[in-house]
Amino acid sequence: MYSFDEDGKALYFDGGKLEPRSVDEGLVGFCADCGGELSSLGCYSTAGGWLVASRCQECGSIVLAEYDSSWSWKRDLEVAVAAAPTPRRPRISEIPREELEAVFTPAELRDMERCERGEAYVRQNLYRARSKYDKFERLFGVRIDL
Ligand SMILES: [Zn+2]
Repeated sequence: MYSFDEDGKALYFDGGKLEPRSVDEGLVGFCADCGGELSSLGCYSTAGGWLVASRCQECGSIVLAEYDSSWSWKRDLEVAVAAAPTPRRPRISEIPREELEAVFTPAELRDMERCERGEAYVRQNLYRARSKYDKFERLFGVRIDL
């Protein structure tokens, strides 16, 4: 069973890894499930020919098709989508103080830190801080999660 990594566009199988030869997007066929257009995600060279990973523009399913060396379609292969690693959220203490102070009040910061340490905190302060997480992410590209 193959597994497709959406971020790196690599294809994994039996402990091996195929890097795409090309990642050009293009129409490569139609979805067997819903008839939607399949847009290519990556093209891989194999011993016997080619593999093309594509995504259905309608239902979003990933399709992996096998071709021989003269690009005749052989069959569709089973493919799973590799789970993307979730980005690690930083701890409050790892974020530069000036950035935090540009958005949060001293009371909000104190209670964010208390919450993170598992100590008692003032809920209202944390609620107010939470309403500013979007703003903080916009300004500094860091998502706080408390
Ligand atoms: Zn589909």
